[in-house]
Amino acid sequence: MPELPDVAILADALDVALGGRPLTGSKVAQSLVLRGTPVELAAFEGQTLLDVTRRGKFLVFRFERDKMVFNPMLTGRLGVVSAGAKAWGQSAAMFEFGAALGKARRHTWPAANATWLPRRDLGVELRYRDATRMGKIYLMPAGVTRPVAGWDEQGPDADGPALTLDVWRERIGRHSGELKSLLRNQAFVAGIGNAYSDEILWAARLAPYRKRSSLAPDEVDALYSAARETLNWAIGELHVLVPPRLEVEQRDFLNVHRKGGSACPRCGTRLSQVSAGGFDTTFCRGCQR
Ligand SMILES: [Zn+2]
Repeated sequence: MPELPDVAILADALDVALGGRPLTGSKVAQSLVLRGTPVELAAFEGQTLLDVTRRGKFLVFRFERDKMVFNPMLTGRLGVVSAGAKAWGQSAAMFEFGAALGKARRHTWPAANATWLPRRDLGVELRYRDATRMGKIYLMPAGVTRPVAGWDEQGPDADGPALTLDVWRERIGRHSGELKSLLRNQAFVAGIGNAYSDEILWAARLAPYRKRSSLAPDEVDALYSAARETLNWAIGELHVLVPPRLEVEQRDFLNVHRKGGSACPRCGTRLSQVSAGGFDTTFCRGCQR
């Protein structure tokens, strides 16, 4: 399931690859994934994509007049291919973009790994596939209010400037329960899911089943630092690992998540892994308290 670092890379990559291009066509093979009408979809044609940004686990495509919001949910994956490339299996939707107009993007991709970027003088396709069809693409024409499930409930972005240490201390006091559930609660902070909650708790040396109410003040602060540092570290790694295949989720570089049975990279204890409700929790009994 895409989490904040995965979506951050997608937003950066799609912004650089697609920004400044006009939408020239679209095809939605799985109508279940679309929230909007065929007329609204057709009205995107000819509009230039201004930018792609992220909020929590959502991607926002801002066109000249209208917007699209993507929520990939569990299995939705987005990728960019050259126009007319071989079709994807389980393709749910595709959007064609023409050659880029005007100046280069204000965002740039790290030069060391920019060879994947599509040529700006040729058309490209944005493809979306979704094996479970749980993900959604919301069309948001100017002047139309359409509810986006889960959007309004979101707390501040887990890596965003609004989430200062003081805000974190204040917000965490409103929630009880186990730390792993707390971090995954989008109403607390937005963007963290199953994988990164494991990584953050390992970095903070806190056990996933600890109760929030048992945390000392310095542990509350350590969890904040661990969340910020882990997410920023992962975003940096993913900039190198993800392109050109934006649709492939990269998790092998993580320290502990789904590495049960192997040695803790910090203390050498064999990592524990517990599966419940289809989710794996990996942690170290040696150095997480
Ligand atoms: Zn350990």
